[in-house]
Amino acid sequence: MFKCTLCNLEAPFKHFGASLPAETVATEGSGACRVAFLEQGWLAVDPFSVKPRPLFLGAPCSICNQPVCTADTCSLFFAKRFCAPCARHNASAFPPAVLKASARIFGSSQQQQQQRASGGVG
Ligand SMILES: [Zn+2]
Ligand SMILES: [Zn+2]
Repeated sequence: MFKCTLCNLEAPFKHFGASLPAETVATEGSGACRVAFLEQGWLAVDPFSVKPRPLFLGAPCSICNQPVCTADTCSLFFAKRFCAPCARHNASAFPPAVLKASARIFGSSQQQQQQRASGGVG
């Protein structure tokens, strides 16, 4: 069972790696998608897909090794997987584009205030 340490999301996984093993794809039928991911993580087979398609549940943080899901509030991927606390801790190591793209992790409160300026009751 994969469990995200941050949001406590739980899901059964089939395989740990960058892609589903050939046997899994072979037993699930022909025409399977042999998708390979950029990182090793916990994979499940998408139950809603006709073809056996791997579903990337999450991966271990490259710094603290805790399992985190791929939600944009839990982790970010920049060459490696970083959980939200580690990413915040090392925010200065990321380029501005990554900080901006992962605003939900780094919490750019200044931008939110600008957007709220014309809004009503929050
Ligand atoms: Zn999570
Ligand atoms: Zn971490």
